[in-house]
Amino acid sequence: MSRETGFAIEIRERYQDVAGDRWPAAVDPQPDELLSSWLYRLAVANGVAPRSFAGVLGFCGGMWSARLDLRLPEDLAAWLGARTGVASEAISAMVMSDGALTPLLLPLRETARRSRSTWIQYCALCLANDRAPYFRRSWRLASRISCFRHGCGLRDRCPACRGGIAPFAQTDLIPHQVCARCGFDLRGAAMIFVEAAARRLERSIDDICKAEIAKSSSAIHEWVALLLRAPAVAGVGSGRPLANLSTSARIRCFERLAQRADDGPVDAVARRRRPTLAAGGRDGLIGRLVDFVDQHQRLPRSARAQPPGVDLAALLAAYGCAVRRGSRSTRRGANDGALKSLAA
Ligand SMILES: [Zn+2]
Ligand SMILES: [Zn+2]
Repeated sequence: MSRETGFAIEIRERYQDVAGDRWPAAVDPQPDELLSSWLYRLAVANGVAPRSFAGVLGFCGGMWSARLDLRLPEDLAAWLGARTGVASEAISAMVMSDGALTPLLLPLRETARRSRSTWIQYCALCLANDRAPYFRRSWRLASRISCFRHGCGLRDRCPACRGGIAPFAQTDLIPHQVCARCGFDLRGAAMIFVEAAARRLERSIDDICKAEIAKSSSAIHEWVALLLRAPAVAGVGSGRPLANLSTSARIRCFERLAQRADDGPVDAVARRRRPTLAAGGRDGLIGRLVDFVDQHQRLPRSARAQPPGVDLAALLAAYGCAVRRGSRSTRRGANDGALKSLAA
């Protein structure tokens, strides 16, 4: 055998030198994805069960990932960035770091009684339509009750075992859209109906939060405090704050508030006020909302037992209308007409 016909053997770089610290499977964050959702997908893609992945990151277990959603140390973001190729800024952006909305975050609970909130919600249709199913940051907020894309109610439990969603406890290589407790695929959950008026109210609240945060308004804190007391105004949940209620109880709360805005018993008074509310624009309305909170806080407890629900609902709807007119004049939502009728 001549030299020319032999095998050409060439010494190449060692795999470790080429790959460095990178993990084999790359997982890109999705729009509005929650950090813990990305971590579960990352773990499973790289052959590690989520529960064991806690150990990789130096945690013992429990709701390790949900706690990281609230605060991710900078050095851990950099460490994850080096192993995944995702910029540490993009990783940190998946954290629920907006302080003004913190009181609206659903509290971290591994188990919850039927009427109480769990830590996360989901839309079965979103999960079913995702190429790579993932959980959204907005699903952590108590002010969200429905999916803006599909119009159906969110769920906060597995419909088969009624337990909260617990992918942090998953001990097998099973994706997070499958219930870690009973194995039910959450994408198969039936749609939940939410009245259109309640969804309009929810959209108004979301618009208001975004507008107030965008202009760094200090009124956002009073606004959030007002939202947390909405169940007392609606007569739902025995006076517990919004973030403590299950999604179904919050849907009921929004439906009652929206109904009061539409045809409450003091409609004549509300109607007289609505043109003033709308004419006041966004700043005038937020001022009125803050006044409403102040006034409500100064009332004796006996007076608070009969809160002016119509005022709150009308203020929410009229303010949402003003926000929409001011900031989204080019966007024509299907709900605009109904909101305008509240302010007209
Ligand atoms: Zn959806
Ligand atoms: Zn289940």
